[in-house]
Amino acid sequence: MIERPAAVRIIGAGPTGALLAILLQRRGHSVELYESRADPRLTAAPIGRTINLALADRGIHALQLARVFQDIEQSLLPMRGRLIHDRDGGTSLQPYGQRPNEVIYSVSRHRLNQALLEVAARQPGVTVHFEHRFEAAEFDLGKALIRDLRRDRLISVPMQPLLAADGAGSLMRRRMGSLNLIESHETDLEHGYKELSVPPDAAGGYALAADALHIWPRGNHMLIALPNEDGSFTATLFLAKQGPVSFASLTQTADIEQFFSRSFPDVRALMPDCVAEFKDRPVGFLGTVSARPWTYEGMTALIGDAAHAMVPFHGQGMNCCFEDCVELDACLGRHDSWEGAFAEFGALRKPDTDAIAAMALDNYLEMRERVADPKFRLQQALSLELERRYPRRFIPRYSMVMFHHEIPYRTALDRGAVQSRLLSELTAGRVSTLEDVDFERAEREILAQLAPVG
Ligand SMILES: Cc1cc2nc3c(=O)[nH]c(=O)nc-3n(C[C@H](O)[C@H](O)[C@H](O)COP(=O)(O)OP(=O)(O)OC[C@H]3O[C@@H](n4cnc5c(N)ncnc54)[C@H](O)[C@@H]3O)c2cc1C
Repeated sequence: MIERPAAVRIIGAGPTGALLAILLQRRGHSVELYESRADPRLTAAPIGRTINLALADRGIHALQLARVFQDIEQSLLPMRGRLIHDRDGGTSLQPYGQRPNEVIYSVSRHRLNQALLEVAARQPGVTVHFEHRFEAAEFDLGKALIRDLRRDRLISVPMQPLLAADGAGSLMRRRMGSLNLIESHETDLEHGYKELSVPPDAAGGYALAADALHIWPRGNHMLIALPNEDGSFTATLFLAKQGPVSFASLTQTADIEQFFSRSFPDVRALMPDCVAEFKDRPVGFLGTVSARPWTYEGMTALIGDAAHAMVPFHGQGMNCCFEDCVELDACLGRHDSWEGAFAEFGALRKPDTDAIAAMALDNYLEMRERVADPKFRLQQALSLELERRYPRRFIPRYSMVMFHHEIPYRTALDRGAVQSRLLSELTAGRVSTLEDVDFERAEREILAQLAPVG
């Protein structure tokens, strides 16, 4: 364990930087946190950044370890499944799990960030500098240059150690990449997103079922909606950036109107402002970030989205970032140097973040296409049935990721691949209901191929 308390610098006071500050302070280090934006505790939620997020077991576990969970618990809205909206207006609920605690929670990003910063700022030895933007790193001198935006003054701070939690567009990662200190890749998805709103109904209540994540899967595009505390929903439209039906092609009011009425007839009436919002709001970019290694000589390390941003289709980006903080904290407990801790953190964590990034991409196809397919629905029902029969051996991949923080992402990916093959074989051909499934074969295969978890 690193005995000597250090003065640690963190760039970025988003979810990752704020949680990390709390954990490092608890280890006895003093923390200087630099954030380019103004204090979110004093400002309204900015338009254009995702308004709400799905919080699941991994994120909750980290918040509990950091003793922040009780500060946010009251604001969590449970979602027990995906409510699929067909084109003809029909709906069906696909439960996320089968135990009462197997739900995910919609939480306001702004509220969560406020709670984390509240706790961080309360810790003696943590100082948060808002409106301070990291601008450059001088690796040969071990210094970072940070601009105090209020006074327009450049200050120089020692790195050794400096954690870069500056998000998907991380300047630190790009600098390290351009100097060939690390390899860094950013892969853009051909789809982007826009956030739209579903206001409360006339009585001030929820216009859609409040205990579900709503999905309108339409093949090459999709709409989702998560509830907010005030009775509204935030809807996110995922659509190609270019092409015949895309953000680029939909510019005229009549075309946008027709697009919504055709693709999402049941919710169109509940979104009175969707055409204006579609025209006014920016297109958000989606992509995957990959870097290797995440550290440079114990001087600095990337963490959170800065190291491994992913597409949002598994609702795990922030959950994964919170898990990073817990993992790094554990590495610090096992090493007597920052260099050793950073090296172990990257080596242990990267296979897991690669795995969840791959599963997040895979989930895009699942959400926009496969959820509407009867065979997929049968396989989902079968996987829950197999979990009931063999709870330690067969756990649906979605459940491993969302409800089992003790199962690493890479294990979820590997076991998920075996299970997926099995589900395809068991539901092949004419099998159309659970009664048609050969459960004797299922048992033989599960006992042979899937060792008990843990
Ligand atoms: C559409 C969408 C939906 C999502 N839904 C979910 C979900 O349901 N569940 C989930 O778990 N995850 C979700 N995510 C992912 C989640 O938003 C991210 O994983 C998470 O916000 C990453 O946290 P972070 O602190 O690492 O980075 P960020 O949240 O990006 O925070 C980085 C911080 O660093 C600051 N900063 C940046 N550059 C500088 C600089 N040069 N100097 C100083 N400060 C700087 C920024 O202002 C910001 O405050 C979603 C993402 C998107 C895009």
